[in-house]
Amino acid sequence: MVLIVFSKTLICLPIKYIYIIKQLLTSVKKNMSICDVAQNCPFFMAELATRPGIAEMYKKIYCKGDYETCARYMVIKALGLDKTPDDLYPNMLSRAEEIVAKN
Ligand code: SF4
Repeated sequence: MVLIVFSKTLICLPIKYIYIIKQLLTSVKKNMSICDVAQNCPFFMAELATRPGIAEMYKKIYCKGDYETCARYMVIKALGLDKTPDDLYPNMLSRAEEIVAKN
């Protein structure tokens, strides 16, 4: 666990989220634009009811940040949206590489 201060609030997070936060801060610094397939991407358009906080964090890191490193973006660009599983998260690069390799 790691303690961080965010907007004057002390937050206790598992260490695995530190990488995500680092990516978020990097993408904010880069002031990158929104993903060019966002309008058609179910991950971006839908609310993930089970994990809305995590989904919003991914959106900030990838969809509104460094989208070219997104696993979904990789598969969509290589194979098209219809070959991209809805449950493929932006950080699942290994799975994305498998999907692309099999098709
Ligand atoms: S999840 Fe990936 S492909 Fe979809 S909008 Fe976000 S960055 Fe683009």
